[in-house]
This record gives sequence, structure tokens and C-alpha cells, in this order.
Amino acid sequence: MPAYPRRYGIRQESPCPCGSGYTASPVYDARNIFVFFACKKCDAKKRKGYRPEIFTNPNYETSEDIE
Ligand SMILES: [Zn+2]
Repeated sequence: MPAYPRRYGIRQESPCPCGSGYTASPVYDARNIFVFFACKKCDAKKRKGYRPEIFTNPNYETSEDIE
């Protein structure tokens, strides 16, 4: 089972929940797994909540078994 099911309809254009008024875009990690929505204003801030390697290293360590 993928860690992030794709059954949620991910819209390409919607106002960012951070309230900036900018359009939010889906951000994917290095494995092409959806991580979060962010606009140009909060993208860097939201990435800080994650380990940086998940965006750059497709072989990042995970606590879950992914086949
Ligand atoms: Zn935002």
C-alpha cells in the first residue's frame, strides 16, 4: 500500500490555505509522492517541517516498508 493514497482529488489550482492569496500547487517528494500544498510564499516554510532529503533523495530512509 502506498503511504499516500491518490484517491483524494488533487486540484492543480486552488487558493493556498496559508491565506496568502496565491495559488497553491501540490509539492511532491523525490519519489513523486504528494506531500503538501504550498504557494510561493509558504513553500520554503512548509519544507522545513520535513526532512530535506525526501525532496532530493529518492532513496531516503522511511519508517514504512514501501515495495
Ligand atoms: Zn501558502
